[in-house]
Amino acid sequence: MGVDLVDCTPDVREQLRLLRDVRFDYPGGVNRAPIDGVLLTHAHMGHYLGLAHLGYEAMHTHGVRAFASERMAGFLEENQPWASLIERGEIVVTEIRPGEAFEPGGGDGGSGGSGVAVTPIVVPHRDELSDTLAFRFKGPRATVLYMPDCDPWHRWQERALEILDSADVVIIDGSFFDGDELPGRDLSKIGHPLVIDTLALLGDRVARGELRVILTHMNHTNPLIEPDSEARARVLDAGFEIAIEGMEIPL
Ligand SMILES: [Zn+2]
Ligand SMILES: [Zn+2]
Repeated sequence: MGVDLVDCTPDVREQLRLLRDVRFDYPGGVNRAPIDGVLLTHAHMGHYLGLAHLGYEAMHTHGVRAFASERMAGFLEENQPWASLIERGEIVVTEIRPGEAFEPGGGDGGSGGSGVAVTPIVVPHRDELSDTLAFRFKGPRATVLYMPDCDPWHRWQERALEILDSADVVIIDGSFFDGDELPGRDLSKIGHPLVIDTLALLGDRVARGELRVILTHMNHTNPLIEPDSEARARVLDAGFEIAIEGMEIPL
């Protein structure tokens, strides 16, 4: 079965070992394509820096596809060490277009495919090195949106709701709980939706059972990562979920 990652964090070495379909080694050899592809959201540290582990000094992969927007692809092609990964064929950049669904396909040489259609969606976020994508995965059973970074809702609420309502399950930006965890920072300049605002925006949909909301991408200051915090109880009581390692969502 094929394995495609969404984003490639600096912790990708440890993360790959958690995936049961990833095999680095086999008797008498080394697997140069432990994964088939990586779908990249954007050029911020936590989302693409782990590609370095696919390079010559580490895994030295062969032909792992890097699905990227035109701007993200250009960034990889024009900057080291990413350009060397491309030159050596460790990654193969495949440009994807917003709104155009594609099938990552896995390791079947394109014949079988994953049965999951992925649609890249451009979302507003600090875009200094690349633009930012969310991905919508449409399988036979469920449609899941992954949007780890985006601007606060009030800056783009109508469009945001359109995107959120296009899925059954949304895994979204839960960076900061509220203004209190960032003393001295101007709330209006925080480039992420606050979880308290997400509760207000999506609470009715969650309560009615129309939408499953899973919060991810928590900052280290976020009380949601503390097991016994009031913030955590409030979120869970409202029917929202908090992403955990090993969570599985069948598509
Ligand atoms: Zn970001
Ligand atoms: Zn991020």
